[in-house]
Amino acid sequence: MKIKDVKTVLKGMTLSELKNYFISIGEPPFRSEQVFNWMYNHHADDFRQMENLPKSLRNKLAETAELFTLKTVDSEISGSTGTKKYVFSAGEKNFIESVIIPESKRNTLCISTQAGCPLDCKFCATGLMGFKKNLTAGEIIDQYILAAKDYGREKISNIVYMGMGEPLLNYTAVLSSLEIFSDELTTGISLKKITVSTAGIAPKITELADSGLKAKIAFSLHSCFDDIRDRIMPINKKYPLQKNIEALKYYSRTTGTRITFEYVMLKGINDRKEDINALVKLCSSIPSKINLIPFNSLKHMNPGGISADLEPTSQQRIEEFADKLRSKNITVMVRFTQGDDIAAACGQLAVNY
Ligand code: SF4
Repeated sequence: MKIKDVKTVLKGMTLSELKNYFISIGEPPFRSEQVFNWMYNHHADDFRQMENLPKSLRNKLAETAELFTLKTVDSEISGSTGTKKYVFSAGEKNFIESVIIPESKRNTLCISTQAGCPLDCKFCATGLMGFKKNLTAGEIIDQYILAAKDYGREKISNIVYMGMGEPLLNYTAVLSSLEIFSDELTTGISLKKITVSTAGIAPKITELADSGLKAKIAFSLHSCFDDIRDRIMPINKKYPLQKNIEALKYYSRTTGTRITFEYVMLKGINDRKEDINALVKLCSSIPSKINLIPFNSLKHMNPGGISADLEPTSQQRIEEFADKLRSKNITVMVRFTQGDDIAAACGQLAVNY
């Protein structure tokens, strides 16, 4: 029985990896720059489009290499907000989601780094679906390329690694994708407009600070108290808050960036007076701002345990909470819920294909 040859996937290779690839197949290294440009700048669908490569090389690549890693299987747009959700197939029955969030001054693409997520945060639909696999750098980048082809590349101004998965548990692929995105040819989006979120993998925050890639960090805080974080974010038992705060201070110092603290408002759990005091103390110790996020229902997932008991803080209490923080000179944004009608809002990404 003839075993089908496995093709080399080029999408996701950095320029130096592409150079090594072309050397390994007996081609001149400068071809790597041409293919890098075709893949990441022109978003080529097919090797035949790469007109400045000799025909013999285009044929050779078509036989031995792959360009795309993902297939678009569905997309849906919210009638009320224009939020657009894409469902992509990442092979072997793994499906992932990406979301475009339109706002008045920017359009943000939210991308996934894992199919599912192992961290089991109790307020998050992705956590409830469990972990399937780490995405490759190519699968991370293809979310941008496929969305840009559909939505209009010039319309995507920001990228956030806040979709399915914990980015820093897929560190190597995330780092390669940041390196590729940070090339202006690829996206035209500078690292200042790219944010990596984390639930708190302290040693990897430090490693990212030392990588030289100055993306912004959004830290999923959700409580300043370890006992509450332990309950709603089990990863806190492994990397308690103090370890993460030390790593975030180092990140901010090393990269010169401000940390965003993400804070999902949960009634009676993290919206009390003592939570305000603790947030003021924390934010006064590190260059930062806070995003207050209304909790989105997980009812479409039929959750059990703590997740079934979680309730959203009322809009009025969120506003009061924000005002009290602002009165202490803390920068606070209250996020509007976008895309909950298509299960594309924060914490709702989970594919049931
Ligand atoms: S909030 Fe993020 S880290 Fe936590 S379970 Fe959901 S996807 Fe994973």
